[in-house]
Amino acid sequence: MSPAIRCVALSKGFGAVTALDALTLDVAAGSIVGYLGANGAGKTTTIRLLLGLLRPDAGRVELLAGDPTRPEARRRVGYLPGELRLDDRCTGGELLDYWGRLRGGVDAAYRDRLVERFQLDPGRSVRHLSSGNRRKVGLVGAFMARPQVLVLDEPTNGLDPLVQAEFLALLQEVRGDGATVFLSSHVLSEVQRVADRVAVLRRGRLVHESTVDALRLVARQPFDVHFDGPAPAAALAAVPGLEELRVEGHHGTWVVTGSLQPLLAVLAAHPVRTLSAPEPDLESAVLALYGGRGTP
Ligand code: ATP
Repeated sequence: MSPAIRCVALSKGFGAVTALDALTLDVAAGSIVGYLGANGAGKTTTIRLLLGLLRPDAGRVELLAGDPTRPEARRRVGYLPGELRLDDRCTGGELLDYWGRLRGGVDAAYRDRLVERFQLDPGRSVRHLSSGNRRKVGLVGAFMARPQVLVLDEPTNGLDPLVQAEFLALLQEVRGDGATVFLSSHVLSEVQRVADRVAVLRRGRLVHESTVDALRLVARQPFDVHFDGPAPAAALAAVPGLEELRVEGHHGTWVVTGSLQPLLAVLAAHPVRTLSAPEPDLESAVLALYGGRGTP
């Protein structure tokens, strides 16, 4: 099956700024990818290229196996922009009706269920809505046509925790129904909760792409081990990715980045009395990728 989204060596610059530099990335149909990066990393530029709202300088995008600007692709995509501009003269309900008509009609019962889930008052003028409530109008608009692909630019910005939880539950439901989700975010914890894969962008370049579980390979895993005899200092020091080794008598502490296999081979060859390896701090591992200190 072809990927729902394919970017091949996609590049875009604005004057002297390289916003996106040769991005190659596939998003499998029926999966959720979390797209992480610092401010200005190029997330929104990627999204605008994916949707055909910007033309790339080089490379290409395939959305649902073809050009993103073709009408049948547009009809099958739900989009939540990062900066939502809503017509202040309308109510939320009027905007949803209007967007529904543009799409040639949507299932009104499903739209109403979404309005209820997000506790949106469709009768209120958009002018009087808080930024979180405006965002909910955009979210209902993105989901209501049951799109095959959802492209969401920092969707949880400004949402309260209850609505965030409802949104993440909805994402899992639509993926269960076969939808593909491209989710740009600053928040690792929400990506960890819902995404199948994670891609990290730094200054326009893809610096990491893996399953969410494999993110652990870029995290620094601490160890604290008591051996039954003297700690094998020389063998430990030779383990690839092992740093901050401190050995005293039978006791050793260190951190490991990357595969644990070489370390486990050393531990298997020396009698271990107790071992503690607390959860690695993924948040700082990803922040290091953002800032260029990690191991992409
Ligand atoms: P944020 O998290 O702050 O939304 P982002 O990862 O979405 O950031 P982009 O908005 O894609 O980042 O911007 C990437 C780079 O391209 C930035 O340096 C930005 O200033 C620049 N850029 C984006 N759009 C334009 C534009 N229309 N004209 C000029 N420069 C632009």
